[in-house]
Amino acid sequence: WQQSAKAQAQQPAITLDGRRVSVFANIGSIADVQAALSNGAEGVGLLRTEFLYLGRTSPPTEEEQLAVYQAIAQVLAQRPLIIRTLDVGGDKPLPYLRPQVAEANPFLGCRGIRFCLNHLDLFKTQLRAILRASIGQNIKIMLPMIATLGEVKAAKAILSQVQEELRQANIPFAEAISLGIMIEVPAAVAIADQLAAEVDFFSIGTNDLSQYVMAGDRTNPQVANLADAMQPAVLRMIQRTVKVAHQAGIWVGLCGELAADPLATPILLGLGLDELSVSPPAIPTIKQSICQLSVTASEAIAITALQQDSVEQVKAIVSS
Ligand code: PEP
Ligand code: MG
Repeated sequence: WQQSAKAQAQQPAITLDGRRVSVFANIGSIADVQAALSNGAEGVGLLRTEFLYLGRTSPPTEEEQLAVYQAIAQVLAQRPLIIRTLDVGGDKPLPYLRPQVAEANPFLGCRGIRFCLNHLDLFKTQLRAILRASIGQNIKIMLPMIATLGEVKAAKAILSQVQEELRQANIPFAEAISLGIMIEVPAAVAIADQLAAEVDFFSIGTNDLSQYVMAGDRTNPQVANLADAMQPAVLRMIQRTVKVAHQAGIWVGLCGELAADPLATPILLGLGLDELSVSPPAIPTIKQSICQLSVTASEAIAITALQQDSVEQVKAIVSS
């Protein structure tokens, strides 16, 4: 069946009752793009740009980044490419930009957007490269680890500043670029209505959302059962996020590992996610799962799942 699933994966994923769900790829290198397309990706829902910055002694230059973003966009040939701005800190420190103070809890420390807003040179260089790569391409920007409205507003102000600087220097760039944020901190779920008014899309990062909602380190096997995206508490956060996004008229995807679990597909369809972004090898299976489900039946499964008392019961519901 794997052979046929892979051939089938070149087709869009449409439920039995006619809803199309976009299936995108999570990638972390240029080499991954080909794998994404051959597995049927309709776009890149998450380009983790950390690979450009790690394993070296100085940050990548604007030109270096521009070349990489252009190369990836060209292979994608107008399919969407969501470039997530640098998400270092936490368990991924940069060797050449260590935190000024040692952090007792790096996952609760200066990571993601917090790090970028503290290192404006680095952030502006990346934004310039993305804006320049976007000419004639379907590129979108996504900010990680957003917890406050102030962070979004600050990032947007810097983006406008970078656009103005490029304009002044007569360097061509795409004027209109869509901007989204990761929803992966519980605070972002709580203020999702305010955030939705500022951005074009959300993408839920269940890997971090689970660890922060459940207070369970995603890298600690002792609490793996807690830091599980099928926990009813996490599923309810997803439900709320989708509802608020749709009320505000923006689309919402999910790019955490939960999207790649076929057992979760009915719950995610039922909750109304517009897009699922998964590692390239998982695409054929997830597309196949979508094609075998109806939205109506999935909504009933999602409602039941969210009422369960435990993660074990949620899993029992979707495994039966
Ligand atoms: C997530 O947190 O779910 C996510 C997709 O981002 P990362 O795994 O890179 O932190
Ligand atoms: Mg994350």
